[in-house]
Order: sequence, then structure tokens, then C-alpha cells
Amino acid sequence: MSLVLKLKTFTIIFRVVISEYVLFWLKSIHTYCAEDTSVIIVATHSENATQKEKDGFYGQLLDLLPRDSNLKKHLKYERCFFVSFPCDEGENLEVLSELENCIASIAKDRRWKENIPKEWSIIELALITMRGSEKTVSIEELKEKYWNAKKNESLKMEDALCFFHDIGLILHFQEENLSNTIIVDVQWFVDTFKFIISDKNHVRDLAETDRDWQYFHRTGYLMDNFLSRIWESLSIDFWERPTILQYMQRLGLLAMGEVKHYVPCMNKRDFGRKEQIALRGMETKSSVLVLHFQFLPFFFYCRLIVACIVGTEWEVVEDESIPGLYKNIAIFVYKDHLIALVVTQTAIQVQILRPQNAPIDANIAGNIKETLENRLGYLTTTFHKKVAYRVAFQCSHQDVLCDNVGCYVYEDEISGKGQILCPRHGFTGKHMINENALTKFWRIDAPSVSCAKSAKVPLANEEKLTKLITLGRDAMQAYFDSIFPPEDLQKCLKDNKESLCNGPFRFTATEVRNVYPASGSVVDASSFDVPIMYKLLRNFGSNIPPPTNGWGKEPTIGQKTQGDDIERIRKYRNQLCHNLFKTQSMDDEDYTLYSEELTQAILRLTKGSFKSRIYTICQ
Ligand SMILES: [Zn+2]
Repeated sequence: MSLVLKLKTFTIIFRVVISEYVLFWLKSIHTYCAEDTSVIIVATHSENATQKEKDGFYGQLLDLLPRDSNLKKHLKYERCFFVSFPCDEGENLEVLSELENCIASIAKDRRWKENIPKEWSIIELALITMRGSEKTVSIEELKEKYWNAKKNESLKMEDALCFFHDIGLILHFQEENLSNTIIVDVQWFVDTFKFIISDKNHVRDLAETDRDWQYFHRTGYLMDNFLSRIWESLSIDFWERPTILQYMQRLGLLAMGEVKHYVPCMNKRDFGRKEQIALRGMETKSSVLVLHFQFLPFFFYCRLIVACIVGTEWEVVEDESIPGLYKNIAIFVYKDHLIALVVTQTAIQVQILRPQNAPIDANIAGNIKETLENRLGYLTTTFHKKVAYRVAFQCSHQDVLCDNVGCYVYEDEISGKGQILCPRHGFTGKHMINENALTKFWRIDAPSVSCAKSAKVPLANEEKLTKLITLGRDAMQAYFDSIFPPEDLQKCLKDNKESLCNGPFRFTATEVRNVYPASGSVVDASSFDVPIMYKLLRNFGSNIPPPTNGWGKEPTIGQKTQGDDIERIRKYRNQLCHNLFKTQSMDDEDYTLYSEELTQAILRLTKGSFKSRIYTICQ
């Protein structure tokens, strides 16, 4: 990665690693570099590969690419090299020299040629020499020593600095607070940040109290005096600290505060069940605005959160002085309207919420959308190539926590069309889309009275059923926890990893990431959805009375084993995900039948303990 960022090179050489990394790299290159940037593939350790394997490799690589993604433009068969250990030295050396020629031919490409004034080279040399003794330098000092203003009247030093910033030699922004300084030692700057976030126990002893350290590692909030101690240990001069902090904030690495700073990439807090219930239970909700990206690196979301904290009138919501910032969700408040900002794999989703049926003010909602787009614009200007996103709306659920990536329609698909068949779910997931219902919250000119009116409509059957199905998931977890107490769960996941990842009932890629997180942290069922729990219960749960008709078959009325109830909850959850409960297709009679069946299943699985929660939903 440092290769890309440091050299901003157009040619990246990488080893062949697992497919996701390859895809991530290619997408990064596509985002930050020119569209036809040449990528060289070097497959190392290929001494044991047969010619057939080598021949098939390029095809496999192409198979990894999503369709219509334009990523193929970066690859070419001729730029694929196989390097092995020197057991067959002659051949290996030949490959290396071919590789060398390939790099040289790309380096000679015209795109690298840029005419720059010769005076700039003096500044460049000065900046490089300075690195030995200085980390930052002021513009005045640089001008005084190395820039003869009279002689170079037609040349602006700012232009030179802008160029050096672009090629990665220095850090310099011509903006308020930052325009007077230059960071000449970029590696040193990276280290000051790396030292804070890298090893977990690294800085533990430097915290004033262990609580400060724990607090930082859980919430991402870094006490200022803790940070001072960390930098003291790195011998960073006191007077340089404000500059470093300003630059970090500018780059979206942290949001500065007086007593504490927020480092979003350190936040490990999950949005727990309690929070989910509170959010889903809000009486007034807007439709869900989806900003859909071709490629959305997670750090982009971190930068967005910093940009929202620093550059808007929004405030982070607090609950008994605990800020509403989580790993992938942030809750802000603006003029008494709550804003939930959620990141999924390819989108940033936004919903405005208010408790106790307070109406959503259309002007405030419109302003929130505008602010958000403004912040995104600010972030994407620093990218080589604009990170493209399209405005969309969730088509059915209107649940900001729902990360079903296929569940949205683009604004331009519905604009001016009134009522249309959902372009995503036209047949089996049949439902209609009402343009006004989706867009009305987000238009500044919309009269707020209509929103107030619609927000006060009592809970429709569809919404009640959705809540019951969500409760069904919780009931399933309560039962799951009784079958798999924490230790048993860890053992089961460990013992059956191979079969759960590759066997006939294997998890999907997303589920694997959920159950076996890359961080190696211990998981529990609170983060599992219905399909994950279902697979584990069905394949590894012992002493479960099986479904009357067998696993995988729908139970009929009157069949009441725990296996039957598990199948029931799974069935409703799947129907919900496939949008089968739209009001058009569910009358009152259907609703009564469905809700009764679910209620009984929930009560049986939880031995009656969810009674009051059911009552709250159905009253
Ligand atoms: Zn749809």
C-alpha cells in the first residue's frame, strides 16, 4: 500500500495474494489513478507451478473482476510475470530482465513527462536536504532562504509546493490554518499517526490511567494528555504538535477536540441490540437515502465522519455522556432531528429520525442532504479521480441498518415517474415504488405539513409485521444461546471451520467475515443474523426437537416443535428480505394470520419471556 501512496505510481507490482486483496488493489488503483493505468502482475514462488497453471492464471485473474467494472483496462497478458526461486536460474534471470524491460517501457511513457520551471529544482533539493534536520518548515523561512522573489517574479512558490504535494514529496495545503507550514518529512508524519494506532499494547503504559487507554481502544476517543505523552515518547517538539493535529484533521485521520480527539479508525463499538431497538423504534422516520459508490474504501467513511464532526453544524448525539459513534454507524443531531449515518459495503445510508411522532421538517431534512453532499464533494476533491457515487433510495424496507446491497433505486430511475414497478424487484419480490414517498423528505422546497401528516399515520400492518420479524430474530438468538453457550459456540466454530467455510452448508462470504472476523476477535450470536444461526442450529445444534416435516421444509399450522418454530422464523425473515409483505399483497386477514403464527413461535421459543415486547408492537 505504501508503494501506491508514496510514489503515487502508475504502475503497481504486487504478489499474487487472495482474490479479495487483488480486487481491493485494482479498485484502489482505479479510484486514484488514470483509467488506463498499467498494472504489472508478478506471481512469485512459481517454481512448482506447471505450465498449464501458469497459462490459466491470467484467465482466473480476469474471472475475479466484476462484470462491466472497467478494471480490465489495467491488465494485459504481456504484463504477467512468473518469478521463481533460483533452482532454474537461467530461466528466472530471463524473466527478471523481461520484467525490467516492461517497467522501463512504462516509465518512458509520455504521461510521465511534465515540464517544470528549473527554479523548482532548487526548492526540491532544499526540501529533501531539510528532511535530515527539520520535520516541518514555515513558508517564510523557505522563501527567505531559497526563493529569490525579485528574480522569480513570474513564478509563484505556491505552485511549486502544490506540485511537490501532488507527487508526494511534502504535505502542504493552501488553506486556512495550514497554508503557512509545510511538512517536509512525510514519513515522520505517517509515523506520528502510526504510533498511535498500530500495536494495541504499544502505548498502554503511556496512558495516565488504564481507563484512558481502554476508553481509547474501545471508542476511538483519545485524551489530549494521553496523546501528549505518546508524542513526548517520540520526542516530538511541543510547538510542532498543533501543526500535526491540524494536518491529521485535514486528512480525516482524527477530529480535534479540546480535551479529547476522535480517531474514527480506532472505534470498535458495535451498534448493539439495545441501540438497534431504539433506532428502529423511532416513531418518525424519513425514507433511507443511499449514496451508492462504485468502490467505497472503509477509510473514506472515517474521513466523512471527521468531515461531519468538524465542518457542519451537526453534533454527535450523546446518551448519558457517551457519544453515539460506533464502528460503522454515527448518530448526529441537527435542530432536534436525529441523523443516522451508516456505512455498508458499497454505500453510505442516511435516515432522519424523530421520537414521539414529532414531524420531520422538510427544510431541515433538505439541508441535511445538502450538507452531506457538500462534505462528500470536499472529500472527493483530494482524490486523483473523483470517487463516483450516485444518489439512490432504499426501495422497500426504509431501514437504515439494512445492508442488503441490492435494495435501492437510483434517483434518476424514478425521477418524474410517479408510481412505478420496482426496477430491482419486478417479479418475485413484486412491489411498486412511489416516487413522492421516497423523495419528499429530501427536497428543500417540499411543504413540511405533508410530512407531518404522513408521519402521524398509525403503524401499518406491514410495519408491525416487520417489527415482529425482527423480534423473531431476537427470539431465535435467545434459543440459540441456550443451545450454544459462549464456550460451546467458540468450540463449534473452531472445530467446524473447514466445513462451515467450504462444506455443503457453507456460509456466504459475508457470513464468513461476520463469524470469522479478520481481526480474530471473539464473536457472539448478537451479531448473527437469522441465516447464520439457522445454519449452525441445523447442522451442529444438539438436542433440538427437529421440524415435523424435516429441515428446510415449511411447517404447517399446528406443528409446534422448536425445529418448526426455527423454520417459521426463517421463512418470515426470507419473505421480508424478498419484499413479499407489501401492503398491495397483504390484506388484514393475511396480516392476522402471519402475526399470530409468528407471535406463537416467538412465545414458544422464548418460553413466554418476550410477551411484553410483542405487546408493545401489536397494541
Ligand atoms: Zn425493490
